Amino acid sequence: MIRTRFAPSPTGYLHVGGARTALFNWLYARKHGAEGKFILRVEDTDDERNTEEAFAAIFEGMAWLGLDWDEGPDKGGDYGPYCQSQRKEIYDRYFEKLVEAGRVYEDEGAWRFRFKREPITVHDEVAGDVTIDYRDTSNTPDMVVKRSNGGYVFHFVNVVDDIEMKITHVIRGDDHLSNTHKHVQLYEAFGVEPPIFAHTPLILNDNGSKMSKRDEGASVRSYIEGGFLPEAVINFLSLLGWSPKIEDEVLPLSEIVERFGFDGINRKSAVFDLDKCRWFNQQYLQQADAAKVLDLILPALESAGIPTDDRDLLISILDLVREKVRLTSELPEWFGYFFGSTATLADDAKAKAFGKEGQLETAAAIVGALESIDATEWDADHIKPALNALAGELGTKMGKLMFPLRVLTTGKAGGPDLMPLIEILGKETTLARAISVLE
Ligand code: GLU
Repeated sequence: MIRTRFAPSPTGYLHVGGARTALFNWLYARKHGAEGKFILRVEDTDDERNTEEAFAAIFEGMAWLGLDWDEGPDKGGDYGPYCQSQRKEIYDRYFEKLVEAGRVYEDEGAWRFRFKREPITVHDEVAGDVTIDYRDTSNTPDMVVKRSNGGYVFHFVNVVDDIEMKITHVIRGDDHLSNTHKHVQLYEAFGVEPPIFAHTPLILNDNGSKMSKRDEGASVRSYIEGGFLPEAVINFLSLLGWSPKIEDEVLPLSEIVERFGFDGINRKSAVFDLDKCRWFNQQYLQQADAAKVLDLILPALESAGIPTDDRDLLISILDLVREKVRLTSELPEWFGYFFGSTATLADDAKAKAFGKEGQLETAAAIVGALESIDATEWDADHIKPALNALAGELGTKMGKLMFPLRVLTTGKAGGPDLMPLIEILGKETTLARAISVLE
């Protein structure tokens, strides 16, 4: 059996580093199918810093990312409770074991754990063998395990829980590597074989500074709100410190699960690049199921005033515009091009389309050509020949008429592909817009 866990402290929002740790643990468990279990344990012993919001953010972020757990505070399981604040009796019991073994002593009301004074080597799956010399007492003073107020410290409860919850693999951030030497000393004192450790590299900003909670893209919430698809964020996170050792970067989750392993975790720090995540999002948005994307953006479309009753229409629009955007939050604006029978002429479009002599006449001639097309034959197969014929009369090429036609239709210099847009708008709306632009 493989048992991994994510053990967040609910002291702020769920950040990218935590989500990456959760993902790696999840991947390792899921890779082992029915033999793998992923546990969520909330390390909420620090009363002063824990908040309800932070607790909720863990659940919200994990659920959004699709990282489901087999045992946890809400689910229960054989080794619960899964919140440390509810496990005091278990800690008391383990503390007694240390007292009985003579491994703790009182120091001004607090209790210190007596380290073995010898070089301690931890084998880490990523960093290799790492030795800290515990004969050097000034660098490794005996650690407090129980505070004078009766509370237990992180190192103690973390180890007790990993023992009690039968965790086989501890995958966590590099910042815990040197703590691991303290932890293996506790395992030894309890007479328990330590789990396998894999410490993941730090996440740095592209300027080399350590990523902080205030950096853009640091919180999982910013992705939920920022127009990202969870699949894209998962793919992006998986490559923060892990490499599948193949060229392709856009990897379906099933392939990430299959390829994931400790040998692919890099020793050197990962560089955080939010633009890369936006790029991933663009890739995923192109392939995503249109109906699913539509469900996701429906509330945003509604608040942007887009009529949402014709689902088929919305799906065809989505298919026309999704290649233009990186984030789903950009979509309502693109949908806006397809609704409304007036258009507002933007200054730059006005100058480019109608600023020179003769251009207004050309625009009027385009409107005339469009008017001559039957409303029941309003499609590219009829619109293009009409424009072509007009171009012949004006001694120009049809291509030259497209920009003024775009401005007539949208009031803007850019936007969705023109012919499909005009087809969807229909004759009446297209002409009404052209008239509103020319007025
Ligand atoms: N609560 C610790 C943290 O958030 C857990 C460390 C661990 O995974 O062992 O850093």
